[in-house]
Amino acid sequence: MPAEPEQVVILGSGIVGLCTAYYTLSLSSTTKVLLIESSRSRLIAGGASSYAGGFVACGSSWHEPPAQSLARHSWDCHRQLSDALRGESKWGYRSCGAVGLAVGGTDESRSKYRTLPGGKGKTVIKADKERLPAGQWVEGEREELDTAGGVAQVDPADFCKTVHDYLSSAFPDRFTTLFGEATALSSPASTLARAASAVLPSKLAPSAKRILTFVPRDSNATPTEIPFDRLLIAAGPWSAAVCETLSLPPIPLTNLPGHSLLIRPALSLFTPSTSSSNPDLPSEAVFAGISGAVGGVHASTSGLARGLTEEEKREGYTRSPELFVRANGLIYVAGENSIPERGGPQRKDGLPNKLPDTVDGVKELLDERCVGRLKRAAGAVSPLLKEENGAVIEKEQFCYRPIASDREPIIGPLAPNVYISTAMGPWGITLAPGAGKVVAEMMLGRKMSADVSKLAPTRFAIAKL
Ligand SMILES: Cc1cc2nc3c(=O)[nH]c(=O)nc-3n(C[C@H](O)[C@H](O)[C@H](O)COP(=O)(O)OP(=O)(O)OC[C@H]3O[C@@H](n4cnc5c(N)ncnc54)[C@H](O)[C@@H]3O)c2cc1C
Repeated sequence: MPAEPEQVVILGSGIVGLCTAYYTLSLSSTTKVLLIESSRSRLIAGGASSYAGGFVACGSSWHEPPAQSLARHSWDCHRQLSDALRGESKWGYRSCGAVGLAVGGTDESRSKYRTLPGGKGKTVIKADKERLPAGQWVEGEREELDTAGGVAQVDPADFCKTVHDYLSSAFPDRFTTLFGEATALSSPASTLARAASAVLPSKLAPSAKRILTFVPRDSNATPTEIPFDRLLIAAGPWSAAVCETLSLPPIPLTNLPGHSLLIRPALSLFTPSTSSSNPDLPSEAVFAGISGAVGGVHASTSGLARGLTEEEKREGYTRSPELFVRANGLIYVAGENSIPERGGPQRKDGLPNKLPDTVDGVKELLDERCVGRLKRAAGAVSPLLKEENGAVIEKEQFCYRPIASDREPIIGPLAPNVYISTAMGPWGITLAPGAGKVVAEMMLGRKMSADVSKLAPTRFAIAKL
């Protein structure tokens, strides 16, 4: 087996960077990991990784063929991580049902909504004076969706915090986090230097390491040179900008905005099922289509971001909301993927707006119109989620997903000693543990646990290896 790298540097502390750090440190007994995060307010996982729904679906019916092997492996990694770090109590890891719901839909909207994977067993649920039948919490025509291959849920913010805390305490000599920016990358070592360093004793060998110039986020901000053996770009939607700054091959990456809410439901309106001793809402992910909905696929995959149309402004509700019952009793609601008004105009090439320079500027873009649309959609799906019935909006959130031009993840070598893992789109929480393990194996020169060959950046014919 070739010598393992001494120093791995990971750019980005989202779920992808954290899972890769976890598996690199767990698989190797010597490799050191330096995690660099550019947040000015020193946030770990301050992007989508803390504001996502946390729905984990690993069966083939939820993913296109190029990512199916990775998704299957990620299911095992989620379970393994949960067993190792007490995921059930730390990040609310639990199995979950998946439901398609047509709310007052026309025939046309219902047939589109049925394109969700493998719906079966339709039941119409209707409230009587805001009270739903026992055991039910949403109103409309329900269909059970395909859960083969595994469906679960996590609280992604708690997941990321637990993993980062664990790495900091379990690997004090091999794991370091620095806040700041990587501003330049040295040229690759010559082929001769790399060959010589592989065979000569380290004292005699020329260095095959590349150098990253790093400017820390502190008052004196003096640039530092960091030698490394492997560099991973895992900066979510900022990964394209990182490639540009470091003069790496460009990647066709854009972003898809997403607003979300965390709602404490009005539980006084919920009657537990007589057949269950559990007084809580069922562990369920609900993919709803409200009358005239254009969606029916996982809402966040239903198109690249665009501004609200005049019709949507008049309608005033999110057409394809997604609702997840969290283990802590809160309901997460998303599916409003329009560009926020302050996010700047849509670009002429049809791609979404430019991102703020760092993650810290994202929350200022939260758009009250989008929040209002989500609140009204939540109320249309369940009386338990209406503020006038006692529901409490605990959080209003906004963030960006990284998404590639062909909607598939980008995972693999990008340049000598440089790797990339991004563009997980609406599936980053599902895929990150599997991607973290496979990329760690790739960087350590090990056999890979999943086939990610179709996800390599070379598919865009731009990466120069
Ligand atoms: C509303 C919404 C709901 C979602 N729900 C789900 C779901 O239910 N299930 C699911 O599987 N997925 C879901 N997703 C998708 C998932 O959240 C993302 O795919 C995933 O979080 C992306 O993780 P990441 O680590 O690639 O990026 P991010 O979380 O964006 O992390 C990137 C990190 O890199 C940092 N960074 C940026 N630039 C630099 C730089 N130059 N140097 C160093 N660091 C840098 C950022 O500050 C950030 O901390 C959802 C997404 C959204 C928006």
